[in-house]
Amino acid sequence: MSPIDPFLPRRRIAYFSMEIALRPEMHTYSGGLGVLAGDTARSCADLELPMVFLTLASREGYLRQEIDGDGRQVDHADPWDLADWATPLDAMVAVRIEGRAVWVRPWLYVLTCPVGHAIPVLLLDTRLEHNDPVDRAISDRLYGGDEAYRLKQEILLGVGGMRILHALGFDIETYHLNEGHAALLAAGLLREHRHPSDRPSDGALRYDADRVRERCVFTTHTPVEAGHDRFDYEDAERLLGDFLPLDQMKLLAGPDRLNMTRLALNLSGYVNGVAMRHAETARRMFPGYGIRAVTNGVHAPTWTHPAFVRLFQEIAPDWGHDPEELLGADQLSDDAVWTAHQEAKGDLLAEIQPLAGVAMRPDVPVIAFARRMTGYKRPDLLFTDLERLRAINRTHPFQVVMAGKAHPRDEGGKALIAEIHAHMRSLAGDIPMAFLPNYDMTLAKKLVAGADVWLNTPLPPYEASGTSGMKAALNGVLNLSVLDGWWIEAWVEGVTGWAIGQDDQRHEDDAQDLYDKLERTVLPLYHADRGRWIRMMKDSISKIGSRFNSQRMMRRYASEAYLR
Ligand SMILES: *Cc1c(COP(=O)(O)O)cnc(C)c1O
Repeated sequence: MSPIDPFLPRRRIAYFSMEIALRPEMHTYSGGLGVLAGDTARSCADLELPMVFLTLASREGYLRQEIDGDGRQVDHADPWDLADWATPLDAMVAVRIEGRAVWVRPWLYVLTCPVGHAIPVLLLDTRLEHNDPVDRAISDRLYGGDEAYRLKQEILLGVGGMRILHALGFDIETYHLNEGHAALLAAGLLREHRHPSDRPSDGALRYDADRVRERCVFTTHTPVEAGHDRFDYEDAERLLGDFLPLDQMKLLAGPDRLNMTRLALNLSGYVNGVAMRHAETARRMFPGYGIRAVTNGVHAPTWTHPAFVRLFQEIAPDWGHDPEELLGADQLSDDAVWTAHQEAKGDLLAEIQPLAGVAMRPDVPVIAFARRMTGYKRPDLLFTDLERLRAINRTHPFQVVMAGKAHPRDEGGKALIAEIHAHMRSLAGDIPMAFLPNYDMTLAKKLVAGADVWLNTPLPPYEASGTSGMKAALNGVLNLSVLDGWWIEAWVEGVTGWAIGQDDQRHEDDAQDLYDKLERTVLPLYHADRGRWIRMMKDSISKIGSRFNSQRMMRRYASEAYLR
């Protein structure tokens, strides 16, 4: 008997994602998209949804970030041992890439939730002796290499993934495409549905796309046109061969370049953005498609500090399964909440000391900013006016901790990391500051629980949703954020957190607004009115934790997208 057998009978939905954050030791993710996919899988296990997950093995990981003496990011591979966590299955399929047969082997990782339900995750691996050495590396490095490498990975995920499911004996009704990376899966399904009429006119689709649309759900995460995967048709033809006739592909994926988002949009019967504002933006970007909104959520038990787990357990024993019960968290006692918070903060400060050599104080607020380091997230906004920062700190002391990786090819993001280090050095004598290297799930858990204020300064409308602020809120860490993504839905000024600036088109003044809000509202409240601060912590847990969780998110996908 194969270890996959027990899972075969009840799996009707397959979820495809280029990255999934299953556990910190498995380097199969880079950031938000993967963590969301991981939280999705964890909630599916909790809720016993009949799903199977597919991703790449990513044996070389995404990026281990080192910061050198000059504050520059140094990129390293981040290998991990697949055999420590997953079991190879004895099915294999071949996918034709660049004219060669590339063999793919699935590894099984079983994700088990606290009450014992389990979800199968298939990790696709091409590191096989049968393969040409070039092809062995296809599944190795997440988002590594050039455009051709990326397209090969997408062929592996979409086409290879579909064939693997078939070879293993899964009977899948619905395919969920997490972002456009797996769009070729939908194109592969199309091949199975040639149009019934014999000779449709020229320039028409010779396949029955409606049949495919019934089976595909597509979640888009990218609010800017330039952020979508696009490939030259020359590359596509060279790598994919006659997978789908070029004229047919152009009808579905755009006339000039193979646009994976277009392909997924045209072949999915249910399409959604990841927050209400993001869905509006996506509808403007892609008119004519009915794009819904399912706002992201986080897996509450994964992101809640053990000290708060104990508190929640007392007032709502089922909160892990039904995080709506966290509504009752506003009834917790002030002392209990503050004690739990100081314990989480102590854990973070104990981490900062050895990593950054900075001793931070437990009685001074910690402002945290942890994001992918890239232009639109504006990680340097806080440093717009160093004199102003020093002045604020003199009347209302604070401390700053930051973390985040820049994509290896994002030179702008890397420059931002170096700049931030330079700013931190010049402020060092006045304001305690630390940049913690190699932001990952483990570090994220410490940061989202141990900070006092969770800062977010993206340039709207580029933040599709954001999820780290939801993790912070679960731990009573207060959000201070620009109005974009999920925060527009969760923000109640002075109750669940604070806004930076207005919800409008002008963002030149965001730095001023940030300083004003810190100086007049946030820091004075922390230092002078602890009672109201704790009131906000409790409102944040109860109003945000009860809604922005992946249990609610998956119940919505199940009822609206999967059971159409
Ligand atoms: C939650 C998380 C993210 C996503 O956070 P954003 O709010 O979207 O910036 C990224 N990386 C890690 C490691 C996380 O845990």
